[in-house]
Amino acid sequence: MNLEERISHLLKHGKLRTTNTRRRVLKEFLALGNIALSGGELEKVFRDRAEENGEEKMDRITLYRTLRTFEEAGIIHQAVDTSGKMKFALCSEDCTTDHHEDSHAHFHCKNCEKTVCLNHVTFPVINLPKNFQLQDQQLVLSGICDECAA
Ligand SMILES: [Zn+2]
Ligand SMILES: [Zn+2]
Ligand SMILES: [Zn+2]
Repeated sequence: MNLEERISHLLKHGKLRTTNTRRRVLKEFLALGNIALSGGELEKVFRDRAEENGEEKMDRITLYRTLRTFEEAGIIHQAVDTSGKMKFALCSEDCTTDHHEDSHAHFHCKNCEKTVCLNHVTFPVINLPKNFQLQDQQLVLSGICDECAA
């Protein structure tokens, strides 16, 4: 699948209509792969793109609305990290409009501040005391990423 096909596939998977903004935002997420970015960092990406390619400026409100739509559609998920910033990353194919399946760790690099989805690092088995009901779970790791350690 080429980039355009992957974008169309994801929008169809999320049962979303194609718009220019949605295509632009997805293109960046596909390029990022397993890296999560905050709203502020994404704003910067689109500012740079607009300068580089003479693309239209990305309206801030439209960007945040698109992020929310993608999250509801099972296309992106939130990644909590130790910086306290909420970041967003592309979901796995298993996420749907009804249910997110992102039970993996997020790694925050203290050196470059990057947050990475560790898709193969899954949650440990949690044995809660009697009558506690688990509703949400986050596994946040921090340290030095592979690129900074190399
Ligand atoms: Zn998801
Ligand atoms: Zn790093
Ligand atoms: Zn993730």
